[in-house]
Amino acid sequence: MNKFLIAGNWKMNKTASEAKAFIEELKAKNFSNAEEVAVLVPFTDLYTVKDALAGSGIKFGAQNVHFEASGAFTGEVSVPMLSEIGVDYCVIGHSERREYFNETDETVNKKLKVLIEAGITPILCVGESLEVREKGEEQAFVGGQLVADFEGISAKDATKIVIAYEPIWAIGTGKTATPEQAEEMCAFIRGVMEGMYDAVVAESLLILYGGSMKPSNAKELLEKEDINGGLIGGASLKADDFAGIADAAAALK
Ligand code: PEP
Repeated sequence: MNKFLIAGNWKMNKTASEAKAFIEELKAKNFSNAEEVAVLVPFTDLYTVKDALAGSGIKFGAQNVHFEASGAFTGEVSVPMLSEIGVDYCVIGHSERREYFNETDETVNKKLKVLIEAGITPILCVGESLEVREKGEEQAFVGGQLVADFEGISAKDATKIVIAYEPIWAIGTGKTATPEQAEEMCAFIRGVMEGMYDAVVAESLLILYGGSMKPSNAKELLEKEDINGGLIGGASLKADDFAGIADAAAALK
């Protein structure tokens, strides 16, 4: 039986009241695979979304966290704060955070470790820019990110991390990687993880594809062997589109 994770990354969208209304719309879809559906929302929406999702089976999470537990870090949010809310997931290393907010492989690595310790599942984003892909260096680049991001993480803990392959050139551009390009990179990532750990770890990992996934291309991406779901930006903001992707995953079970 295929297992999937269909995770919607809302980015900096939806106020708390908009979030509540959206979750009501989503719940009305009555997903057969609700446990494999998640929404990753702004910090200010977390409590509202938690309450609105109660009993639905749909999971929720944050989009970033600080690696320190507390202290003089104005504007930041810590893992204990997320733990108390009860989030299931936290996105780490999204390309927008790497590009605009100085996220580095070193901070990504620290964040992964504290999240795992707290029992929150990290969704680690990796992926190359257009410039790197045009040079044919996507595998070297993503392989390097994985080695740095998993530094000092045990095999047992590695299995607790979801990896999202997100080619930067396909995020929010409407330009999707072809199913073959996406599968090639997701299979490559699984191979890197096998090399760093072992085949059992590699096989147990959920590896998602992210980059302009929508209902019209979800099936062909999700039916690929090494693609275990999607991290979805734009299409996760519309209940019908997000449900269309979740339904495509459910149909492949
Ligand atoms: C993302 O932000 O993780 C993403 C994949 O965005 P989009 O689906 O809009 O390309």
